[in-house]
Amino acid sequence: MKAVMKTRPEPGVEVVNIPVPKVAGDEALIRVRAAAICGSDLGIYNYTPAYSGMRLPVVLGHEFAGEVVETGPEARGLSAGDRVLAESVKACGECGFCKAGMSNLCDASALFGIHTDGGFAEYAAVPVSLLHRVPDSMSFEEAALVEPLSNAFHFVRDITPFRFGDLVVVHGCGPIGLFSAQLFRLGGARVLVTGLTADSARFRIAERLGLETLNIEEENLAERVNGLTGGAGAGVALVATGAPQAVKQAVEIVRKRGHVTVVGIFGGDVPVDMTRVVRREVTITGAYDARPDNFPQSIDLITEGKVNVLDVLTHRFSLDRAEEAFRVALDRSGGKVEFTP
Ligand SMILES: [Zn+2]
Ligand SMILES: [Zn+2]
Repeated sequence: MKAVMKTRPEPGVEVVNIPVPKVAGDEALIRVRAAAICGSDLGIYNYTPAYSGMRLPVVLGHEFAGEVVETGPEARGLSAGDRVLAESVKACGECGFCKAGMSNLCDASALFGIHTDGGFAEYAAVPVSLLHRVPDSMSFEEAALVEPLSNAFHFVRDITPFRFGDLVVVHGCGPIGLFSAQLFRLGGARVLVTGLTADSARFRIAERLGLETLNIEEENLAERVNGLTGGAGAGVALVATGAPQAVKQAVEIVRKRGHVTVVGIFGGDVPVDMTRVVRREVTITGAYDARPDNFPQSIDLITEGKVNVLDVLTHRFSLDRAEEAFRVALDRSGGKVEFTP
């Protein structure tokens, strides 16, 4: 089968031909129909220090959906022909975090496409406990976006305290920023999404979704925030970019006792005005990946039409065109990019 792999500890990916994976006892073999490129895949492509611990060689991809073609002898609940989507974390199920429903923080987890073979391939083997049924009304293209929407759901609902009417600033207008912004709006917040001149294609998506935007290279963010809040500052800021400057800016624009949730992955240390954090009692929290219960919740949001993931999807490629697909995702000339193997 064709697969997009990382084989060497250096920038780039390769399209290779490898055997179809064999299913273990508790696994299902999935014929992958759609698999999306994540921001983390771009770090993997560039082989940044945050991914130096990844397994090599490995089939990339952790946001994918397809049809079950075969199941192992201990795999219960699914059979050939079922439409499914996969969670991204293969957790141990034994540690305290797993037992508390927080497998995103598992002490011994393996992530698809980083530590174990993922979904940028014609087939993938996945434990059935990590598969969710895709409703008939949902396309595979949408189903592959349930994983990143689940991440955004976790960041917004589980981690970030905000209230109806709060001003929320989302720093970064990539797919996670655009999903999170829709969720904050759904929760009754007034949302402002920021980006750079290079994000013009993403601003157009945001505007199509009815979101308010601000280009921080053209307009002063603090002035807009102060204007909207009578000088108090935003209730919440979500940093959905790996740009260190965005964290610094988020700390500057939240109100006293405001909250900054950081979800970007950074290339190194991030400078922050910590005295301002102290004197204004600002809370800064990290948020990572998704919990298992975020998946069914996100499936419902899509099928109920409460969140629009399809407008964020702008490009589709065959596995052969992996280089082109990564180029589009890296230069931010679109929203979400998917493989349709
Ligand atoms: Zn992802
Ligand atoms: Zn665990």
